[in-house]
Amino acid sequence: MRVLVVEDERGMAEALRRGLAAEGFVVEVARDGPSGLDAARFGGFDAVLLDVMLPGMSGYTVVRTLRAEGVWVPVLMVSAKDGEYDEADGLDYGADDYLTKPFSFVVLLARLRALLRRDPAPRPAVLQAGGIRLDPATREVTVDGGRADLAPREFLVLQHLLAAAPAVVAKETLLSQVWGDASDDPNVVEVYVGYLRRKLGRERIETVRGAGYRIGP
Ligand code: CA
Repeated sequence: MRVLVVEDERGMAEALRRGLAAEGFVVEVARDGPSGLDAARFGGFDAVLLDVMLPGMSGYTVVRTLRAEGVWVPVLMVSAKDGEYDEADGLDYGADDYLTKPFSFVVLLARLRALLRRDPAPRPAVLQAGGIRLDPATREVTVDGGRADLAPREFLVLQHLLAAAPAVVAKETLLSQVWGDASDDPNVVEVYVGYLRRKLGRERIETVRGAGYRIGP
């Protein structure tokens, strides 16, 4: 069983790596949000232990992005935050379980094994905000119930905006998440937001000066 540990605290990451390896897991560690997201996307892991407070991108955003892209690897969120509100947040965003620091390793192991025993069948994670509805499974997008036909990159830009909504997404973030190495010109993002506005309605995507774009609740 391969487990990805996304944790920026060196001591904690190392303790988890050693503890899990001793239990027979193959462990990889990522130290920030973006590299954790990439590893979870492409690494073929059986489970992910995901810290909430991470440099670069929060654990919430990582799990939300994974689910929006149709990646259903079991995710156990681990956080120093506590309280029902945060737990609800984590589960809303698509985490499978939630553990609050400090926790005992025995409890973590039990929860992890429970996740690994679950049926890994994909679950739909429809994204909705501002009257727009996007279903990653069927690739269908509707605006106030009416169908919108989007090109693949338009779909991805919208997917990232909806996954983050109502938060602002920086142009650079969209550029790296949607285009990767295919482009380093932020103007391409503006162009695609323009296409989306034409198809969805100008008012649906707000420009936040100096920060990026957002779709309201
Ligand atoms: Ca942390």
